[in-house]
Amino acid sequence: MQVKSELKQGKVNPSKEAGFNAFKMAQQQFDRIADKLNLDEPTRELLRNPLREYSFAIPIRMDDGTMKVFRGFRVQHNDARGPCKGGIRFHPQETADTVRALAMWMTWKCAVADIPLGGGKGGVICDPHNLSEREQEKICRGWVRQIARDIGPTRDVPAPDVMTSGQHMLWIMDEYQTIMGGQYPGLITGKPVELGGSRGRTEATGYGLVYILRELLKEQKIEITKSTASLQGFGNVAHYTAELFIEYGGTVVSVSCWDQNDNCTYSYYKQKGIDVKELVNITDRFGTIDKKQAEKLGYKVTPGDDWLTHEVDILIPAALEHSITVENVNDIKPCVKIVLCGANGPVTPEAEDILDKKGVIVVPDFLANSGGVVCSYFEQVQSNQNYYWTKEEVLGKLDNKMTDAFFKVWELAKRKKIRVSDAAYMIAISRVAEACKMRGWV
Ligand code: GLU
Repeated sequence: MQVKSELKQGKVNPSKEAGFNAFKMAQQQFDRIADKLNLDEPTRELLRNPLREYSFAIPIRMDDGTMKVFRGFRVQHNDARGPCKGGIRFHPQETADTVRALAMWMTWKCAVADIPLGGGKGGVICDPHNLSEREQEKICRGWVRQIARDIGPTRDVPAPDVMTSGQHMLWIMDEYQTIMGGQYPGLITGKPVELGGSRGRTEATGYGLVYILRELLKEQKIEITKSTASLQGFGNVAHYTAELFIEYGGTVVSVSCWDQNDNCTYSYYKQKGIDVKELVNITDRFGTIDKKQAEKLGYKVTPGDDWLTHEVDILIPAALEHSITVENVNDIKPCVKIVLCGANGPVTPEAEDILDKKGVIVVPDFLANSGGVVCSYFEQVQSNQNYYWTKEEVLGKLDNKMTDAFFKVWELAKRKKIRVSDAAYMIAISRVAEACKMRGWV
């Protein structure tokens, strides 16, 4: 198994504003809804902060014989509805606050999708681009050694996230099983299909976005076959979103990716529509698309945030957090009707206010990209039963879950005349608050 070819893009559009704090943004989003729901003080206090946090050192002997100490995190935001669930990110700019924000978003994500799991997230400050496979394996094993007693199938179930892959999950599982002395495939999700993974997991996040988009377009009376989209990113999420959207008859005019060599983002534009396979063929193991080859294939390649400025119906930020901000939101063309958030936290609350005033529907990340964790939930169920489903069965169940989640949110938004993201937050936060109350925590 190739580790690096599976890496999700990790360096797309790093936060531009110095001082941007994802956790503050997550708390700001929470406070806004807590006010609307009239949540009592103890419930607010409980939900606006993580239940538990772990921060630890991971000492590694590097390939050149030197020792290096990496910093690892796991944040368990809330487990009132079930074991914590959420990925592990490898990122050079990882911070405790980013992990806190992402853990909180996982709680809302599992709740809005109505799966019996809570929210967690992990991370290691490191850059896999500069690490060998052996060094990455040691970081994975070192991470587990620090946290083994506090994770597990009934406590907290990790998964892949930015720059981690199925191979990383297997190293983590293997180390955990060595420590615990038994087979626990339900410890972790996003495993390769050959070793306890679920069919459909690789496609799940991107396909989930498109299942929701399909329903939203129907509601908006827009024919999918006549609709156009521009995507930020060309990692796992963007790739499978584009694939299914094109299969349904839509046109993707542009994708973007971080260029490892030039240290900046490029957009790849083709008015008659991109071809996912042809771009995959010229993408290197770090996720960078070859500019010269792309130009030969008829793509217009431009540096910067051009993906956001195209005349399309739908924008899909599917890279990292903090992509659409007050600084670039006004570059979005008036014809854009939908912003579908594939990444976690790509639109700042201020930018969302502006989009809302312009009548753009923003489908929030924790609803739009919940297909990944829903399929992770299916993987956990299969792993715990040691009985595996067909791809059709998995994707059929995923479609049902995503469609149900979307309509619960959409109906509330229509009934109360509120924005989609507020409706999604209200459903998710109410469900978690209710579980905390039922348990007698608040
Ligand atoms: N990392 C993915 C997310 O942010 C998946 C998490 C999971 O499957 O547990 O949704």
